[in-house]
Amino acid sequence: MASSDHYQHRFISGDATPWPAGKVLCVGRNYAAHAAELNNSVPEAPLLFLKPSTAITAFDGELALAADLGIHHYETEMTVLIGKPLRRCSPEQARGAIAGLGVGLDLTLRALQDNLKARRHPWEQAKAFDGSCVLSAFAPSLPTTDIQNLAVRLWRNGELVQDGNTGQMLFPVVALLEKMSRYFTLLPGDVVMTGTPKGVGELHHGDTVRAELGTLVVAQASVAYL
Ligand code: ZN
Repeated sequence: MASSDHYQHRFISGDATPWPAGKVLCVGRNYAAHAAELNNSVPEAPLLFLKPSTAITAFDGELALAADLGIHHYETEMTVLIGKPLRRCSPEQARGAIAGLGVGLDLTLRALQDNLKARRHPWEQAKAFDGSCVLSAFAPSLPTTDIQNLAVRLWRNGELVQDGNTGQMLFPVVALLEKMSRYFTLLPGDVVMTGTPKGVGELHHGDTVRAELGTLVVAQASVAYL
């Protein structure tokens, strides 16, 4: 099953990062068109939630999902690998702490999430379960990389189902890091998932998925409900 026991962050060179996988900070409804497709309002401030390090699994090869948890939905997102501690950071500190950029799937048990939302309960069971954070290798972030102009795309079984751009974010990455670090200290090895563009949907047994972050990162996997 999906497990972080043997998971290690890697750069696209194949080299392991110097840091162990830490927590994952996520933002909901960071693209207006995605908020609309789920009949959610656009937030005035970033809607933050967390996944533990035990939720992380590699976006590579077979993506093993727990059949007894039900249908998993994909949300394809730019991921940001943190390389320096951030606490109540400035924009400059935030930009300087970005060590890598990747693409990931924020897997969601949508039926359970809808049930929890209706009862005004926290979402963790639907968002932070084992294997819910599928992370590609990371491209090193260069000072010249325009992180707010990168395509975020997902093909499912060869069909392009998500086709967004990080320029469409309601809260750009530096603003997210500033906001997050006022509440949660970020440490090297932590990851930020930056929200999904529209086009989310279900994963089924036997599906193949291929995700891209601009021309920086490509990841693919085949889906198996076990
Ligand atoms: Zn998401």
